[in-house]
Amino acid sequence: MSRPLRLLAVHAHPDDESSKGAASMAFYVARGERVRVVSCTGGERGDVLNPRLVDDPDVLRDLPAFRRREMARAQEILGIEHTWLGFVDSGLPEGDPLPPLPDGCFALEPLDVTTEALVRVIREFRPHVVTTYDENGGYPHPDHIMCHVVSLAAFRAAGDPEAFPHAGEPWQPLKLYYNQTLSAARVRAFHEELTDRGLESPFASWMERWKDRVDRTTTTRVPAGEYFETRNRALLAHATQIDPDGAWFGIPLEVERDVWPTEDFEAACSYVPIVEGENDLFGGLGDGQQADALAARALAGELDIVYDEIKEA
Ligand SMILES: [Zn+2]
Repeated sequence: MSRPLRLLAVHAHPDDESSKGAASMAFYVARGERVRVVSCTGGERGDVLNPRLVDDPDVLRDLPAFRRREMARAQEILGIEHTWLGFVDSGLPEGDPLPPLPDGCFALEPLDVTTEALVRVIREFRPHVVTTYDENGGYPHPDHIMCHVVSLAAFRAAGDPEAFPHAGEPWQPLKLYYNQTLSAARVRAFHEELTDRGLESPFASWMERWKDRVDRTTTTRVPAGEYFETRNRALLAHATQIDPDGAWFGIPLEVERDVWPTEDFEAACSYVPIVEGENDLFGGLGDGQQADALAARALAGELDIVYDEIKEA
């Protein structure tokens, strides 16, 4: 029995893990690797997006508890491990001018406090690969931007024995990726395919909203199509956050597997080369034992970063 590889996916809110990269996580779990999700916040300020639950007494009484149960269910469906980082949702500010962020929220916490919390998880779980959001957060929610900032800071600090000396034994992850599952190119491809087939596309309004969205560089396409159904079940477990009749489920699975059978990622930083046409987040790392040896060399300063496309937020 070979030693598993370890993937840590850092997300802002419970439900983000199920909409961004969930099929890939199920794919790696099925392959025998270890996958852990970190939710930076409890999603306390999320709107209830499911019309069937808007007036639900349990939701009204205690949304955070409800969302913890939803997350536990999604975790079970995906077969992953899960850690709450313990910070409070910043909410999505709306209005003109935008209101200030609420006191004590994740986006306003001092960076060394949030970074130390994530460094602690990295040093304990010892991931070979970490995923997070790009410098735009994927979409401009303050918690998503902060998730990027904190992930970067923790990726850099986790292997530094002088950084956060009370947060565990140093560990250097080898690769950092950004989720690019929700790319404009993918939404466009679905919109065109559905329209061609004479089916109604739920993405017309997205196309309009995203017409100026810049396509990101996709470096890595994980062939996770077999796990799209698992991803949908995990998404539906976040019942307050998902309208089961909404756009998420507007694409028949066979169309999705036909048109876009992968989940896509953008390499941000790596101690091993990112090869053209990469289809595995663990590419270049070998098996778990070899990846552990590489991480030990990176920690000892014997390996250099050979790929760095990080743009600061
Ligand atoms: Zn979110």
